[in-house]
Amino acid sequence: MKNRILIWLSAFALLVLVGVQYIFITQTYHTKQEQFDSKFGTLVRQGMIAFNEYDVHFGLDSVLFLLDNLALDYLYAAPDTTSSPPAVEFHKILRNFREPEIFLREYIRRAGEEPAFTYYLQINELYLTDIGSEQQVYSDSLLLPIAPEGALLAGSYEQVRNFFRISYDIYISFNNRSKMILNEMWLILSLAILTLLFVFVIFFLTLRNMLVQTRLSEMKTDFINNMTHELKTPLSTISVASSALGDRTIIQQEEKVEELSGLIKRQNKHLSELIDRILDIHIWERDEVRIKITDNQTEKWMRQLVNGFKLEQGNKAPSIDLEFNLESKTHRFDEVHMSTVMNNLLSNAVKYGHPPVRINVVLDETAEHLVVTVSDNGPGISREEQKHIFEKFYRGRESKKRVIKGLGLGLYYVRQIIEAHQGTISLHSSHGKGSAFTIKIPK
Ligand code: ADP
Repeated sequence: MKNRILIWLSAFALLVLVGVQYIFITQTYHTKQEQFDSKFGTLVRQGMIAFNEYDVHFGLDSVLFLLDNLALDYLYAAPDTTSSPPAVEFHKILRNFREPEIFLREYIRRAGEEPAFTYYLQINELYLTDIGSEQQVYSDSLLLPIAPEGALLAGSYEQVRNFFRISYDIYISFNNRSKMILNEMWLILSLAILTLLFVFVIFFLTLRNMLVQTRLSEMKTDFINNMTHELKTPLSTISVASSALGDRTIIQQEEKVEELSGLIKRQNKHLSELIDRILDIHIWERDEVRIKITDNQTEKWMRQLVNGFKLEQGNKAPSIDLEFNLESKTHRFDEVHMSTVMNNLLSNAVKYGHPPVRINVVLDETAEHLVVTVSDNGPGISREEQKHIFEKFYRGRESKKRVIKGLGLGLYYVRQIIEAHQGTISLHSSHGKGSAFTIKIPK
């Protein structure tokens, strides 16, 4: 609960941090944009003023003369270009007058700046006029191409001639505006991104660590509970049996005494096995699994093992199908440890399966490996659990729900033994569809 609150608080703090960084970066970007617009706005306005002084109006005058004739045509004759409205023609002619644009490029280059820009001429109003009459043929509510947002106003002009009156603006849009601004901000940007990445990585590592620790501590608590339970059961049986042995009437019945002492012996053996298992953990943890590899008659060994297992299970014995696809008679492995492996796999199939339990054991051989597959018709293991079942102390959800005895060590031992043989163990299973464990041991 405390952990969960901490996680939510940290996630919230992270979100706030991202928000603050975002606001900081966008504000810096806007400030830089304003600085850019003010610097380059002044530059292009000065450029256009310089152009007007330089041009002495010859170039522009001849264009305006041409437009005057065109206006006259629109007023009184049927001009050749009747297909386009007057404003379109005016725009085309004025826009094709390229001197101001060329002048500006040079002006900006001389100022030591990058002259990559697009030049826009935007008509605001156009009137065809004659003495005493005026006819508006365009206003900016009708749309000719207009300058994009962020373009800088270089100058506003009004020209009055005999047959027309026009007002237009010249805009300059720097193609690399955003790139130039971002270039100036690269240090701030990369620091902000790096800080965020760093904080995110630390957050996720801490979170993962915390979850692993929580899971480990839960597993350890479960283990201690299970162990206590497992140790207590034989102890109480021994206690009851030994008190019974002290009873005079029972001492006189030889059969009863034998039965009770047998019971005590068995429980004692079970206890010492349990204690051995628990003590083993330390040895196994230090990677001290010592195996003694010998030649074994595999088929014979497996048949004996399965028969022994069935006998031990008594009336709970499952049906076990054996299949041998072996080329050689003998294989090299540690017989004692491999018997533990097989017993663990078989007893898990019985423990977790629902009767009638059916088990298939198949032995195959490849050029390099002895392959043993143990499959069952049990409840199967979900994908999520498959990631953990070979871990020490791990117990599946089903085993806890159905209160199935165990310490979560069986498959951990199995993996240790197989790895000590330089082999591998894998599992194919899905929830509700049985499990198949495949062991591969190098020959
Ligand atoms: P334990 O049996 O003591 O819980 P194991 O290491 O042998 O420990 O198994 C770990 C978990 O894997 C079990 O708790 C169980 O959830 C799951 N498991 C193992 N074998 C099977 C099987 N054949 N079918 C279904 N679940 C299994």
